[in-house]
Amino acid sequence: MFEKVLIANRGEIALRIHRACREMGIQTVAVHSTADADAMHVRLADESVCIGPASARESYLNIPAILSAASITNVDAIHPGIGFLSENAQFAEMVEEHGFTFIGPTPEHIRIMGDKVTAKKTVMEQGLPVVPGSDGPVSTLEEAEKVAHETGYPVLIKAAAGGGGKGMKVARNPDQLKEAYQLARGEARAAFGNDEVYLEKYLGRPRHIEIQLLGDTHGACVHFGERDCSVQRRHQKVIEEAPSPALNAEQREYIGALAAKTAAAIGYRGVGTMEFLFEDGQFYFIEMNTRLQVEHTITEMITGIDLVREQIRVAAGAPLGYGQSDIRFEGHAIECRVNAENPETFIPSPGKIDGYHAPGGLGVRVDSALYDGYRVPSHYDSLIAKLVVHGTTRNECLMRLRRSIEEYVIGGIQTTLPLHDRIIAQQAFIDGNYDIHWLEQLMAKS
Ligand code: ADP
Repeated sequence: MFEKVLIANRGEIALRIHRACREMGIQTVAVHSTADADAMHVRLADESVCIGPASARESYLNIPAILSAASITNVDAIHPGIGFLSENAQFAEMVEEHGFTFIGPTPEHIRIMGDKVTAKKTVMEQGLPVVPGSDGPVSTLEEAEKVAHETGYPVLIKAAAGGGGKGMKVARNPDQLKEAYQLARGEARAAFGNDEVYLEKYLGRPRHIEIQLLGDTHGACVHFGERDCSVQRRHQKVIEEAPSPALNAEQREYIGALAAKTAAAIGYRGVGTMEFLFEDGQFYFIEMNTRLQVEHTITEMITGIDLVREQIRVAAGAPLGYGQSDIRFEGHAIECRVNAENPETFIPSPGKIDGYHAPGGLGVRVDSALYDGYRVPSHYDSLIAKLVVHGTTRNECLMRLRRSIEEYVIGGIQTTLPLHDRIIAQQAFIDGNYDIHWLEQLMAKS
């Protein structure tokens, strides 16, 4: 097992990884920008190295600075966390070339899944259903028009290198397609330096269902069930729950087993997530994330398994040591992503925390690096806390979530807690009856 791990990230996820390492007896090295000198992950780590100024490009995305920090502190492995360099195949390669272990999949798997066109092709070959659309990238407007005509409107133009909902545009007719095609390419070029796009049928009322996977380096691969991440704004997840209220036992078993079989067939190692849209009883693969996900917490709550620990174990070469039938599911879990934003306009609200009280009690987990007096910097993602609640039943979980939101005090800045409070009070949410467009429709009403 590793003796020392460098955590190439910040905020709640850096803390989350630090916690897993501590429990495994592994020492931690935090890296941070000048804006994060007082951050909790820096305070708790055994050692810390400042890797650059506030701008992420010069710090958390600065590969030479991170590798130098790893050399100076003599670590065995690097955990990339979520976002930043976590899906950068070149970084994974360089980490290994410098003699450290990359806690994640092989650079090859990152590369295959990072290009969504190749990803779709790869899983299709293994028999996974995908959203109908173009066979590969569409490189001219004429080609896009042809595919859209065949697929039928509405269609969605998506960036091959996409992530975070960027470079994604809907077109409902040929006129809109002209504009959407150019817009999507422009946005993809700006966001990813790659303007390759492809086309998919735009589904009208699907749910977002994803399967948590874990493979070891000895060919074993299991799944940890599904998460329903259909409560979204601008294609970004807001609330996630597990299990999904939309699936029956047979559908659950089918998609979990199929995803695990596919991951095993391609020799996937580490944690990963296959994302699907689910409509009228059909699953359609959309992408695979080759890293830990923000919402891994709800899977941990219903399985009792520490996924970061498992991720570190398999990266160190350990065999899984258990099979699919050993994974048991208990109760229900919901996660609310709490952002430092105005809950109505979503304008970021960085600043100093003045008064902080996190909820607690049975079944309540708060993953956050906040503390009273901490200054939320303006330079990074606005996610500041994940409120995760577990209950024996979905109803118990909802009641517990309601009282946890009530208890949660984050003073000094605006947060999206009031939005969560509003969402979970809606009858459609209580009934588990929502799709990926539901939240935006709800917000448009007010
Ligand atoms: P990203 O990598 O940018 O997050 P995804 O492919 O994972 O992009 O899609 C993000 C979200 O966009 C999905 O959860 C879903 O809400 C929506 N979406 C993606 N593809 C489709 C589609 N074909 N039809 C309708 N909605 C879609």
